Amino acid sequence: MTLEDYRDIAEPGDIRAIEHMAKRLRGRTMLHVNSTAMGGGVAELLQRMIPLIKELGIDVRWSVMKGTKSFFETTKRLHNALQGKALPLTKKMWEVYESVNRKNAERIDLDADCVFIHDPQPALFIYSKRRGVWIWRCHIDISTPDKVTWFFLKNHIEKYDACVFSVSHFAQAVAIPQFMIPPSIDPLSEKNIELSDEEVRDVFERFNIPMDKPILLQVSRFDPFKDPLGVIDAYRMVRKYHDCRLILAGGTATDDPEGERVLKEVQEKAEGDPDIHILLLPPFSDREINALQRGATIVLQKSTREGFGLVVAEALWKKKPVIGGAVGGIPLQIIDGVTGFLVHSVEGAVYRIRQLLENPDQARIMGETAREHVRRNFLITRHIKNYLAMWIAMEHRDEKVIYV
Ligand code: UDP
Repeated sequence: MTLEDYRDIAEPGDIRAIEHMAKRLRGRTMLHVNSTAMGGGVAELLQRMIPLIKELGIDVRWSVMKGTKSFFETTKRLHNALQGKALPLTKKMWEVYESVNRKNAERIDLDADCVFIHDPQPALFIYSKRRGVWIWRCHIDISTPDKVTWFFLKNHIEKYDACVFSVSHFAQAVAIPQFMIPPSIDPLSEKNIELSDEEVRDVFERFNIPMDKPILLQVSRFDPFKDPLGVIDAYRMVRKYHDCRLILAGGTATDDPEGERVLKEVQEKAEGDPDIHILLLPPFSDREINALQRGATIVLQKSTREGFGLVVAEALWKKKPVIGGAVGGIPLQIIDGVTGFLVHSVEGAVYRIRQLLENPDQARIMGETAREHVRRNFLITRHIKNYLAMWIAMEHRDEKVIYV
């Protein structure tokens, strides 16, 4: 892919801004560091972004830190504590965290003009900074962290030149500049590229799902905060008035015991109803997810707690009105009553599902608006524009006027 491929899709202003800034940054070096090469939203975003940035003539690298089992257990707890769902780390855990960070920072070439460190795992790399602009890019919700954990981490984060959060209310008071940059989807990836009606039908056939009546769809991990049980409740109430199907599609059961438990509860609750389809998708099911989203009549994301909720942007991009919980990054994407509906309960979801099923024209218009909202705000080009602009802005932060 090159920037040219996005010219007819993305906002012209974004493309022009990227070209303009890329001219200034040509030959300069950029580095991204995170803790996984595959799986998870951060890795996916980087996989799509790095080649595009390289195409612009910027010498960009992506390095992945390596950790031990105890390191990843520690950082999982750190992650959960920062999201307010775990106790602080023990002294021993902080030591593991520090030592793995130190070893990785020695191994990885950190020499670059602009360095993005993603999430808490490699956050202590900052102590190996020699030069350049260093940015901590936080993808998680730290709006209600465990206070002790955040107190310790904050001291390190404040050594960076700036930090970035995905949603404004995820941010925390810190003594360095903060930027609000939401994630993005790539319209040219397998998950979002246009598909023919035939391919969509094929996928439904393969999954054995007749497309004979309206289809409600939720694609998410089997996680209590995604509320799949609430989705089934909503579907059952809607069924009293409208014949329809429900698809709950999610990742295969991993070694996550919570995922297994939720999946089992979902299967039990759905048992005996031939119109509920529970799909266990293996990793790399991007094209299948694409087809399911395109074949759905209404997409749901009834989360009760959410990070950004990229799956919402994916569905909106496919002109689907989305009914979503008013949490995390969902309200940025669902403009209530315009690109979909925000709901706070099962009953709220039922009301809005019925409204859309009874008003297909309204659903169609919302879908069109939804795509335009994503096109303007949540495409990868906007994201790259933000990163380049931030880099330039930080290099010129001591000047009164910034020429971007
Ligand atoms: N997804 C997937 N397979 C699944 C479930 C989800 O590939 O079985 C994808 C989904 O299309 C989206 C991402 O994983 O791109 C989930 O991101 P989101 O921000 O919606 O939720 P998270 O799982 O990060 O909480």
